[in-house]
Amino acid sequence: MRLQNTLTGSVEDLVPVTPGRIGLYVCGVTPYDAAHVGHAMSLMVYDVLVRYLRWRGLQVTFVSNYTDVDDKLIDRAAQQGRDPLELANANIEQWEREQQALGLILPDVRPRVTREIDNIIGMIEEIVANGLAYVTPAGDVYYRVRSKADYGKLSHRNIDDLRTGTRFEPGDAKEFALDFALWKAQKPGEPAWPSPWGLGRPGWHIECSAMARRYLGERFDIHGGGVDLIFPHHENEIAQAEAAQHAPGPTFANIWMHNGMVQRDGEKMSKSLGNVVNVAEALDRWSPDAIRMYVLSSKYRQPNNLTDEAMAAAIAGIERLTAALRPGPGTAPTTIDIAASRARFIEVMEDDLGTPQALATLFDLARAINRGRDAGEEIGAAQATLRELAGVLGLTLVERATDEAAARLDPAPFAKLASRLEVACSGNDVASTIDALVERRIAARTEKYWALADTIRQELDALGVTLEDSAAGTRWSVKR
Ligand SMILES: [Zn+2]
Repeated sequence: MRLQNTLTGSVEDLVPVTPGRIGLYVCGVTPYDAAHVGHAMSLMVYDVLVRYLRWRGLQVTFVSNYTDVDDKLIDRAAQQGRDPLELANANIEQWEREQQALGLILPDVRPRVTREIDNIIGMIEEIVANGLAYVTPAGDVYYRVRSKADYGKLSHRNIDDLRTGTRFEPGDAKEFALDFALWKAQKPGEPAWPSPWGLGRPGWHIECSAMARRYLGERFDIHGGGVDLIFPHHENEIAQAEAAQHAPGPTFANIWMHNGMVQRDGEKMSKSLGNVVNVAEALDRWSPDAIRMYVLSSKYRQPNNLTDEAMAAAIAGIERLTAALRPGPGTAPTTIDIAASRARFIEVMEDDLGTPQALATLFDLARAINRGRDAGEEIGAAQATLRELAGVLGLTLVERATDEAAARLDPAPFAKLASRLEVACSGNDVASTIDALVERRIAARTEKYWALADTIRQELDALGVTLEDSAAGTRWSVKR
């Protein structure tokens, strides 16, 4: 597989540090508030990367952190009169439930700053010992950026460019404007931990260097995050990891992968603009599949513009793929080239996670299945391939909305209709009973029992279920 590497600016082969294994670190959320759909959509990129690599037989360790102590979190907790850690825990629990509701695989390791303090202090001590950090009289520890000759290599800028626009704050004990805090001495009322420099807490950047090294080793395969994190966060992660390095040679992440930010109607999604869509709202309006289809429809590095039109297109796309999975009674030999679809899917995914092209492959396969169904071909194997490849992208293709709507109907009249027509009925599962009735109608039409086919349509219609015939087969929906 080849991935665009921000560090080198080119598309590079992913060569595992340890053959057969991939270590992936992705910067996680600061749980001062509920996560929004932008966070979920960013994470979906790495979710698909993990699913794909695992499907290709690699053993992936996926690590993503929680910054559960931070200025914003402390401020928010103070406003609400809550303990910052309790607020963080509540938001983390909600976010993990939401990730599952969205069909996101949870990272294998989800370290939290407050549980990694010793690990973080250990790394800061190494950096200080190596002369790349200094301790102020107040007990703050700063990274000495000017001692790192290649500082700026990830964001492709040099220290002089970066310095423009930064300034010393009054009372700042830093030697240089770009120096950043590894350890912050305690301020009154803030959570703090003992350290060799007195009571305090870690700076923001150090946690990721320390956690990535602890769970993935000094050198690992992929580090991901939003493009907004390239500078200063990721630049500083590299600087810290290299300053604490034990063995000579390349260290930290081989490939730096960055996803574009999610916008809402062309604007950055942010609390201050008031255009944030939270996960609960998103799930209320759209299925997890539709949200995923929307995310995967554009290249992961591009900004993602969430509009109602784009979501409507994503919903239609999911319906097309799902419709192709409806059963077909054909028995003629298939003419669908399943192996070609599979090869094309792999080819485009290997090319820097080409999800828009991978979706195009699925749509082509769905069209071939529909043509095969119309021609009376056996389409089961092609449908199994479509389901498998869609699953690699995390798409379930479950007829969720329809099934849920059917579950709200009274099962009794459907059971009665099924029994009258001698169709096997699934008791209280209205959706399955409707499926069985629809199949009976397809069979009736095939056998040219037009009157029976019409009766089934009319009776279902009277019970609130509409049938729609198309080249893709018959689909039913519950009338609103
Ligand atoms: Zn990070």
